[in-house]
Amino acid sequence: LLFLLIVLTQNFNSVFLCLEQWEEVSGYDENMNTIRTYQVCNVFDSNQNNWVRTKYIRRRGAQRIHVEMKFSVRDCSSIPNVPGSCKETFNLYYYESDSDTANRNSPPWMENPWIKVDTIAADESFSQVDLGGRVMKINTEVRSFGPVSKNGFYLAFQDYGGCMSLIAVRVFYRKCPRIITNGALFQETLSGAESTSLVAARGVCIPNAEEVDVPIKLYCNGDGEWMVPIGRCMCKAGNEAVENGTVCRACPSGFFKSTQGDQLCLQCPINSRTTSEGAINCVCRNGYYRTDSDPLQMPCTTVPSAPQAVISSVNETSVMLEWMSPRDSGGREDVVYNIICKSCGGGRGGCTRCGDNVQFVPRQLGLTESRVYISDLLAHTQYTFEVQAVNGVSDQSPYSPQYASVNITTNQAAPSTVSIMHQVSRSVDSITLSWSQPDQPNGVILDYELQYYEKDLSEHNASTIRSQTNTVVIRGLKPGSIYVFQVRARTVAGFGRYSGKLYFQTMTEEEYNTSIQEKLPLIIGSAAAGLVFLIALVVIIIVCNRRRGFDRHDSEYTDKLQHYTMTPGMKIYIDPFTYEDPNEAVREFAKEIDISCVKIEQVIGAGEFGEVCSGNLKLPGKREMFVAIKTLKSGYTEKQRRDFLSEASIMGQFDHPNVIHLEGVVTKSSPVMIITEFMENGSLDTFLRQNDGQFTVIQLVGMLRGIASGMKYLADMNYVHRDLAARNILVNSNLVCKVSDFGLSRFLEDDTSDPTYTSALGGKIPIRWTAPEAIQYRKFTSASDVWSYGIVMWEVMSYGERPYWDMTNQDVINAIEQDYRLPPPMDCPSALHQLMLDCWQKDRNNRPKFSQIVNNLDKMIRNPNTLKAMTPLSSGVHLPLLDRSIPDFSTFSSVDEWLDAIKMGQYKDNFANSDFSTFDVVSQMTMEDILRVGVTLAGHQKKILNSIQMMRAQMNQIQSVEV
Ligand code: AMP
Repeated sequence: LLFLLIVLTQNFNSVFLCLEQWEEVSGYDENMNTIRTYQVCNVFDSNQNNWVRTKYIRRRGAQRIHVEMKFSVRDCSSIPNVPGSCKETFNLYYYESDSDTANRNSPPWMENPWIKVDTIAADESFSQVDLGGRVMKINTEVRSFGPVSKNGFYLAFQDYGGCMSLIAVRVFYRKCPRIITNGALFQETLSGAESTSLVAARGVCIPNAEEVDVPIKLYCNGDGEWMVPIGRCMCKAGNEAVENGTVCRACPSGFFKSTQGDQLCLQCPINSRTTSEGAINCVCRNGYYRTDSDPLQMPCTTVPSAPQAVISSVNETSVMLEWMSPRDSGGREDVVYNIICKSCGGGRGGCTRCGDNVQFVPRQLGLTESRVYISDLLAHTQYTFEVQAVNGVSDQSPYSPQYASVNITTNQAAPSTVSIMHQVSRSVDSITLSWSQPDQPNGVILDYELQYYEKDLSEHNASTIRSQTNTVVIRGLKPGSIYVFQVRARTVAGFGRYSGKLYFQTMTEEEYNTSIQEKLPLIIGSAAAGLVFLIALVVIIIVCNRRRGFDRHDSEYTDKLQHYTMTPGMKIYIDPFTYEDPNEAVREFAKEIDISCVKIEQVIGAGEFGEVCSGNLKLPGKREMFVAIKTLKSGYTEKQRRDFLSEASIMGQFDHPNVIHLEGVVTKSSPVMIITEFMENGSLDTFLRQNDGQFTVIQLVGMLRGIASGMKYLADMNYVHRDLAARNILVNSNLVCKVSDFGLSRFLEDDTSDPTYTSALGGKIPIRWTAPEAIQYRKFTSASDVWSYGIVMWEVMSYGERPYWDMTNQDVINAIEQDYRLPPPMDCPSALHQLMLDCWQKDRNNRPKFSQIVNNLDKMIRNPNTLKAMTPLSSGVHLPLLDRSIPDFSTFSSVDEWLDAIKMGQYKDNFANSDFSTFDVVSQMTMEDILRVGVTLAGHQKKILNSIQMMRAQMNQIQSVEV
């Protein structure tokens, strides 16, 4: 941009000061327009020095001044007789001054103090003169100078012997104008002092724009042009550039712009809207969602509808489910499927979530295909599978996913394979092996078959051994030889598959001899409890004394040595309250778990100290597992915390498949937690009540066997439970029962809020479950636990009936004292009732040990015929109590009333019509009679027959009392 400082064309008088030789003259330009000029033409005189000077010109901030001169110059050669000193050029000068102080004599007319800008020559000179005026060739030259810094300056033109006229002088500076470019405003900026100077200018972003990355700049060059833009401003999110990028305008409603930039606002996608102008995104309408990764321009989506047409095909204990995709995918492409597996006991039982061992191929959650293969289900069990359709936004919906469900019932199946087998001990000619029960027994395991052969021989030479327990000693092996072992389990459905091959080697004689010498330090080093150490020491001494007597076979001492050093079952339980600081016991026996590994899902019950929840535990490097989490409610006292955690210190010492397994504790954060394996079916008493009549006798005995086995383990560890009851047994999804509830506090505290526990001197006692010697003088032993076990048997066989029904605690104590015992529950095999009665022997020494109970139950399971015989009523040394579940007939005045009381009122007419209308005749009824009166339903026949048997027993009692 040229910016004129001064335009000198018409009236030089007012602006120029001329010294004598320059004269102001009128003339014509090429187009014959009249012009005024300053002329000089003293070519014939030598030593010319003619100056003409402008008025004071204000600088006005400019640093470099440009001067455009229009002038004409007479060609020296066209002048006749002109001397050699004739010039065709003139000089341009400037002089800076802060004020207008110049006069005729000052500054003096010489180069210094004036500063010479240049010598100006004409491009074209002229030679002719028109007499009517002057026709001149007009030259235009521009010169510039700088830097100038004072308030103003003068220009001067020096002629030194030429013939010329100065027609116009234009003085100007250059500046870059105020502009809006690249989203920023740049103020007017004057060019720099040199023609090559670049003057940097910072821009200011226009409203609602922001700099991108670097500060925005432009450079103003010597020609007054902006150049070299650096950085830029762009409209902020919610604003778009309009009016050629000079304004950032807020997006109108219904439009959005999510980021800063040049792009325009976009219309809101489907199912979304804006709430105000200038929106940076559009919010989804109710019921529609976006995932974090959904682009904002994508329509909002919703949850899918349920999958369609689920079909199932069952194969033994597996099922293939297939379905069709949901009618409505919710507008998304990422629909996947989750399978919820519930096993249903049928009847009143309701359904429970399947356990971890059910296998899903390809997986249970996040299925992309519309099919899944589910295996390792329990045999003969009803399942409900819910196929949920979920997509990327399902977890944002407050509603649970829509699903389609299918019910199936599995068929019979052999047990699954044994997955863990280990060597317990070995000698030169024998190996003792032990293995875990198959994950899916699919019924009660009758026995195991172990196949073995020498590694170097063929499988055809294999021998087999049957074992009713999961441990076996294989004898008669060659020394130092490797044998291959495989085991399989058998149920009524037949054999399962053999386990994978495992190789174990018998000892060489040298190994055998060295092993004996090495055992002494080993035992001393590893013994945890002093008692173990003492026992081991005694054994070692015996072993050492007898060493010379060893032969090649397992001796009784080798057995014992291995017993104490290798068998974990021989650990002795340590009461955490024997620790001076019980927290020490927690540290020793319970693993501390970081709270970040625990995810609580839902409350499943109320514990004594706080809520019991289910959740997930994901320990580093381990598979995520479902767990139960007992919490300690806030505001606890130090004693409550100790008591709460004592359960963990106890549980943490146990490791047995029928004892609840402790995963660990959380004590370093709040709330304090005890984390155990999750038992899907909850406590046994409730579970049985919910599944009344749903199990076979063998299944019930299987549960009892598990409880006895857990109790044997605890008794072997010298642990006395004191509160063995069905409510303290937990059941998992495979019907495996585990002993739980190792809390000590209720025995210690004096809180009588729970009526199950009655305060006694020195603690509280669950009267109905407790042996008389424990009630009377607190003699709690494994034998008193056996008594409680008998009560648990009764609870199990009666599907959770309350022991001694509604009798008062005092009545129970008195009845027991008078040798009354609970009668067999309905349909209870007499062998089982006999075992209960054995457990309730008054003299605790006469009660069976848990190991005997386990063996006894194993025998029954192997020979189900022994479970066929039902107990004749009222027999044996012990007097059975009256069975309160069948009302006493003598309290009714008629057979009709009695039928109502046993809930068989619908048969009143049948009985009356067949003349069974007095208690005498009814008490004589046989099964045929019952059929004949028209009772066809098997359950009803049984109920009536049982009630009649009870009536007979009650009649006998009345008679004996009368006698
Ligand atoms: P407790 O304090 O041990 O009596 O537990 C209270 C209730 O929580 C029990 O009756 C069970 O219903 C439930 N519960 C406790 N532990 C577990 C577990 N490991 N698995 C499932 N449910 C449990």
